[in-house]
Amino acid sequence: MRVALDVPLAGPFDYRVPESLEAIKGQRVLVPFGRRELIGIVLDTIESPSYPEEQVKDILMVLDDLPPLRQDWLDFGQFAASYYHRPVGEVLLPAMPSALRKPGSYTGKLSKGGPVARLDRKKKKTRVPEPPEDRMHELNPEQQQAVDTVQSLKGFKTVLLHGVTGSGKTEVYLHLALDALTKGKQVLFLVPEINLTPQFEQALLARFQQVVGLEGLAVLHSGLAEGERLKAWVAIQRGQVRIVLGTRMAIFAPLQEAGLIIVDEEHDASYKQQEGLRYSARDLAIWRAHQLDIPVVLGSATPSLESWQHARLGRYLKLTLSKRAKTTYMPAIKLVDTKQIKLEQGFAPVVLHAIRERLARGEQSLVFLNRRGYAPVIHCASCGWMSQCPRCSVYTVMHRMPGHGNVLQCHHCGYYGRVPVKCPDCGNQDLEMLGRGTQRVEEFLQAAFPQACVERIDADSTRLKGSARQLFDRVHSGEIDILVGTQMVAKGHDFRKLGLVCVLNADAMLFSSDFRAPEKLFAQLAQVSGRAGRHVAGGEVLIQTAYPEQAVYQALIQHDYDTFANASLEERKITHLPPFSYQVLISAQAKTVNEAMQFLLEARQLLASQPQLAGFQAVINMYDPVPLRIVRVAHVERAQLLVESASRPVLQAFLGHWLPLVQEIGKRHRIRYFIEVDPLEI
Ligand code: ADP
Ligand code: ZN
Ligand code: ZN
Repeated sequence: MRVALDVPLAGPFDYRVPESLEAIKGQRVLVPFGRRELIGIVLDTIESPSYPEEQVKDILMVLDDLPPLRQDWLDFGQFAASYYHRPVGEVLLPAMPSALRKPGSYTGKLSKGGPVARLDRKKKKTRVPEPPEDRMHELNPEQQQAVDTVQSLKGFKTVLLHGVTGSGKTEVYLHLALDALTKGKQVLFLVPEINLTPQFEQALLARFQQVVGLEGLAVLHSGLAEGERLKAWVAIQRGQVRIVLGTRMAIFAPLQEAGLIIVDEEHDASYKQQEGLRYSARDLAIWRAHQLDIPVVLGSATPSLESWQHARLGRYLKLTLSKRAKTTYMPAIKLVDTKQIKLEQGFAPVVLHAIRERLARGEQSLVFLNRRGYAPVIHCASCGWMSQCPRCSVYTVMHRMPGHGNVLQCHHCGYYGRVPVKCPDCGNQDLEMLGRGTQRVEEFLQAAFPQACVERIDADSTRLKGSARQLFDRVHSGEIDILVGTQMVAKGHDFRKLGLVCVLNADAMLFSSDFRAPEKLFAQLAQVSGRAGRHVAGGEVLIQTAYPEQAVYQALIQHDYDTFANASLEERKITHLPPFSYQVLISAQAKTVNEAMQFLLEARQLLASQPQLAGFQAVINMYDPVPLRIVRVAHVERAQLLVESASRPVLQAFLGHWLPLVQEIGKRHRIRYFIEVDPLEI
């Protein structure tokens, strides 16, 4: 039989089933592998060993504690493996919770006494949902139209729900979900951020608890404890779950009778896994829906240009929610030109004034700054020394650590160091902190508005499990007056009392070399702006910038995504960039950037030198390999090679021929590298 194993070899692997055992497709089996024992998944029961009979080993045990994984799930994993060019075992096994794939995390036969059975006997935790704050809303005409259209679809269709922030996309999702549930189908609901799951969990439970029961909803994300994830997964695999809510990993949920997939904030980069299998859960959702012949709804106020282009071509069905559901007004977005004015601790006077006014009115303000820590770098004005990470080619960031004083921290490798009392190079005792991060802004605002409750939400303030949820609850309850935050606060949240949004360092992204930077900036600013005035009239957004004339800002103040997207697509078309081409990135890591570059150069040369690749020369474009912008992280130096084609199938076919040759070179150079299909960051 053929078995998928989580090892970095092509696989699948051949094993024999001894007389005493019986195994069927989709079951987990324990097998010997080298000197280890591993859990694998049976992909095929045919006896067709590709090497001599006597070398084929017996499987040791069949784990029949769960129903076998379904064929469609196996096919889905196999598709992902082939599309992203990874061994199938490295896709299928990591998709499962670790207790189901790590030998030793169980004892003996599992069907009765194993961890899964034990888990079932454990007293079920009672979840106390918040009282349903919003009942089913009566849909407005645009929402109704969207719901009707999707409900009338037969089979597979990708729907792009383009709805401005606050237009009630959630309400549309919920109506569609109810429709699927009442037809006896399951719903898969993907959200980009762990922190958005509680909000949706509450909304789903409030609406559907009567329909599906408390246990009919399973939540899957990487913030769960192993046991919680196992419990959710097992319940899904046993067919006890009607709604799966989760982040990108939930796309691998073993659904049985899905009727609808929803991808909220489909443009969000969090749908892209950045290690191991570098998949896009949004793209896989479309493939999965196609496989299951069901609709998939991609929702966003700022769709990715890829999705927008598909909609323009009519491949996706575009539905529009053009108005806000509650206040009907979009917040007024204003640009605060910082070129001519003196800033106070990074704030323009009008911005501080606006915060003060909101405070007086009892409304909340959000200060958005995508930079955590206290100061991005420490600097010596007399000799030019800067706080550089000893392991990476970046500066260390100063953080105030309660109880530890000030530390320098590297955001790339995790290095911690003391803040020197004097300059290590010249002895100057007057070291300066340059720039500001969320901590410093929080400190300043608390000093400037002593009567206000100021809080900060970023990766640092929410490190402890559950603390993010507590902080968000305090924002929702209205206790917090001024919220300082990174992108963590920008997405999806429906804060009721929030009237004002202030954006501090938007320009940082303006001159990035990444061709997607303007698209990302527009999306991010539209998202964070969309938090303002969702329930209160007179919502306002103030964006501080030294470049107010930039197209991206001009489109933002007009709330004109369409014009911005269409113009951006014209540029992409002229420059042959995605979505008008398809890309693959090979990133190599070595002791020195020269070794990495050498490997990539050899990989690149294959196209010209190998006769079997000759046919691709006209249809594949390879850029020159380049060192990464941040070339060194944790003593490892990095370079990358970008490969491009106007055709996705051509690119895939080329990879099929080229990557095995690249692997040979990689072995010879003993180099670590990885492949990223459809990279989002270049
Ligand atoms: P978004 O499109 O940004 O996801 P939401 O779904 O969060 O917007 O909706 C914004 C607010 O409008 C929510 O508080 C929601 O309860 C409310 N809402 C949605 N639809 C309606 C409706 N038809 N009538 C009244 N309020 C609605
Ligand atoms: Zn110095
Ligand atoms: Zn570092």
